[in-house]
Amino acid sequence: MRGSFDIKKWIENPDELLLIAGPCSVESREQFFDVAMKLSELRRVNILRGGIWKPRTRPNGFEGIGEEGLKWMKETSQVTGLPVMTEVATPEHVELALKHNIDALWIGARTVANPFSMQQLADSLYNCDIPVFVKNPIAPDIKLWLGAFERLASSGLKHLVAIHRGFQDINSSPYRNNPRWEIPIELHRQRTDIPIITDISHICGCRNLLQATAQKALDLATNGLMIESHCHPEIALTDAEQQIKPCDLERMLSGLTIHKSKSNDVDLLLHEFRSQIDGIDDEILQLLAKRSEISSQIGDIKRENNLAVLQLDRWNAILSNHITRGKMLGLKEELVKEIFEAIHKDSIDRQL
Ligand code: PEP
Ligand code: MN
Repeated sequence: MRGSFDIKKWIENPDELLLIAGPCSVESREQFFDVAMKLSELRRVNILRGGIWKPRTRPNGFEGIGEEGLKWMKETSQVTGLPVMTEVATPEHVELALKHNIDALWIGARTVANPFSMQQLADSLYNCDIPVFVKNPIAPDIKLWLGAFERLASSGLKHLVAIHRGFQDINSSPYRNNPRWEIPIELHRQRTDIPIITDISHICGCRNLLQATAQKALDLATNGLMIESHCHPEIALTDAEQQIKPCDLERMLSGLTIHKSKSNDVDLLLHEFRSQIDGIDDEILQLLAKRSEISSQIGDIKRENNLAVLQLDRWNAILSNHITRGKMLGLKEELVKEIFEAIHKDSIDRQL
């Protein structure tokens, strides 16, 4: 048995990459035990995951093994020395998970989307010193995600982690859930005290995107990865398309470039470049302010001369000239288009 990983210590100082792995659902005692043993033999996994109550989009599928599975998880934890975590969606789930001494909990994307459920969970966890991982809500609404942390913190919970698992969008292709990386980055900006890990399995929804998505998450400085793993993914009762065998997880991990969290020499160099960037950003802001001022003056002239605000020919010419010029300067068409569309919108608003 290996020494148990201290989840709270990691949350307080999340320098090392956290690795959570395990099946989407705990299906039987043997299934969980077998995959857990193989995962612990990799010597890379810190926490074992397993769903006991499964939120299924439509009824009558496998809805989880229930309380009995918590006993199997705990037995397995004692043999492997690894802490175990499961999903809770109701106060009854919380009560049972606490009764069985489950080491950490996660709250699923559908639950985080519902403030009533979140409040009930926060109330049922009042003053429990258990680590709680909070998935992003299914809708790309950062306020719901922030709100979930606020509710849990008001209930006295001190060890909180965010799990980025992607968002339901009209078009998420090729992913199952659109990652929208800008949202976890914004969460991190607003809550630097909360580590964020990436659930690549629920973002990808299929095995072949996992490696590249894990690398992207690492490049964006994720604090950890959650990956669904099953010894026989093809016969898994839930999420069969996205689970990977422990041996494939091992291969995937060895193909990843895991970045160092800090280096003093590089920090100095970065500091230099960052001050240059800050200077450039300031110039951009000053130029934008100057441009807006001129737009307002143009607005006055159009009003005095009874001219329409939107001059479509002029706008089309500006946009295509800027895109061509941008390309010559090595800038992507979409970037130039997005920036000038935003600038033009502001200009129109000022003239209306
Ligand atoms: C899960 O982790 O198995 C799960 C159901 O996740 P999510 O809430 O992200 O859909
Ligand atoms: Mn799953």
